[in-house]
Amino acid sequence: MTSSLLGTAYLAAGVLFIMSLKGLSHPETARRGNLFGAIGMVLAVLAVAVQVGLGSAPLILGTVLVAGVIGAVLAARVQMTSMPQLVAILHSFVGAAAVLVGISNHLHSGVPLTGAELTIHEIETFVGVFIGALTFTGSIIAWGKLQGVIHSKPLLLPGRHLINLGLVLVSVWLGVVFVGGGASALPALLGVTAIAGVVGVLLVMAIGGADMPVVVSMLNSYSGWAASAAGFMLSNDLLIITGALVGSSGAILSYIMCKAMNRSFLSVILGGFGAEEGAAPAGGAAIAGEMIATTAEEVVESLKEAGSVIIVPGYGMAVAQAQHPVREIVEILRKRKVQVRFAIHPVAGRLPGHMNVLLAEANLPYDIVLEMDEINEDFAGTDVVLVIGANDIVNPSALDDPASPIAGMPVLPAWEAESCIVFKRGRGAGYAGVENPLFFKPRTRMLYGDAKASVEAILRLLQQA
Ligand code: NDP
Repeated sequence: MTSSLLGTAYLAAGVLFIMSLKGLSHPETARRGNLFGAIGMVLAVLAVAVQVGLGSAPLILGTVLVAGVIGAVLAARVQMTSMPQLVAILHSFVGAAAVLVGISNHLHSGVPLTGAELTIHEIETFVGVFIGALTFTGSIIAWGKLQGVIHSKPLLLPGRHLINLGLVLVSVWLGVVFVGGGASALPALLGVTAIAGVVGVLLVMAIGGADMPVVVSMLNSYSGWAASAAGFMLSNDLLIITGALVGSSGAILSYIMCKAMNRSFLSVILGGFGAEEGAAPAGGAAIAGEMIATTAEEVVESLKEAGSVIIVPGYGMAVAQAQHPVREIVEILRKRKVQVRFAIHPVAGRLPGHMNVLLAEANLPYDIVLEMDEINEDFAGTDVVLVIGANDIVNPSALDDPASPIAGMPVLPAWEAESCIVFKRGRGAGYAGVENPLFFKPRTRMLYGDAKASVEAILRLLQQA
């Protein structure tokens, strides 16, 4: 392939990736965005296969085929609620790839470089390996926390900031040794791989459950920079561009998540900032009052009298897959001239945009799905709030208990409505492991059971009424 044709293919793939990101920014255009991304990736893989020579193309295409089949099977099988774990483990692969590319690049440097060019190349390799190893281990820990294999509470080692600082300083020293070249270069590169791996573990272990959304987007960003670094090592422009797109969009998402949770980025990545050294944060103060149970019949009676309803979906709704019967309830209520709206918290569920995807899947109209800022002031004038499988995002202790691990995070004030019905299976805490005073408020009623079964019971009664 001539270099101009290759350049055109790379450019087209880059443009398709940008169009893909643009499309993914709204549920209505997300499918198209996905398609653009997929076409861009096919184009990129084909261009690379041709660029490296047809002789080795069968090897590349064979590898891509096997990996593609594994990816397609995994993607088809994965539950929506397990997507964050899948994303985390995929990030770890990008990190591992950057490390392997860096080490192999050092061992088999194709183009002989000298002087400043060589120094820049060595720095690229070293930084790429550092980010890659950190992304690899950090993503595995994030996977463990999201999967529930590792506890979501932060591990706050005494003096952890000093330990991290020490490890970073040793890495800088190893970087100087590596760039110096000679026999010590390879041990220095392997040394920094191990150290960055430890930094990745320590950083993510120190981050508490409620801050995990930022970790997911932050590791997304790191994986992009790791890919970009691999692009520099391989002198591949498209990999540099693609990595930078992922890196910067992940960084923007991290910023949006931090803002939504009222956290500073630094305090999140340093982990448990402001909490007691050596101790995981407690679940906040003991709660007065009792949880009062209700029945589907009672909920239907309140809905029949309601003029306005807000539905707050959370992770439990995704687990129960209750979105389809919820849509049917919404249709019935809207036909009866009840104002029904959804309130979406930015960290609801386990992925940015998780609830929007669920509601779009159930074909709910976008104009009744409102972001937290658009609807928070309306809770006070609302007759009934249905909290379906949500917990942390409606926890008032975020606002009034400074000792709570989620203190300062804006939440949806479900308790301000005339009545609030909480759909959940039992007394289980939310992802952050904190008790929720909302459940003990006098105007709150608990509808126990699997969210889908409860919603279906209400739907049947509403259809008969
Ligand atoms: P939570 O995880 O706080 O609460 C979910 C609730 O759903 C639980 O209390 C559980 O109670 C209930 N539940 C679970 N399964 C069912 C079921 N089948 N039927 C009915 N209820 C069920 O979810 P939220 O959406 O309120 O908050 C999201 C949390 O996840 C936040 O802490 C956020 O920081 C974190 N997070 C978010 C990410 C994101 O990007 N959005 C990424 C990583 C973490 P019970 O067991 O009693 O049924």
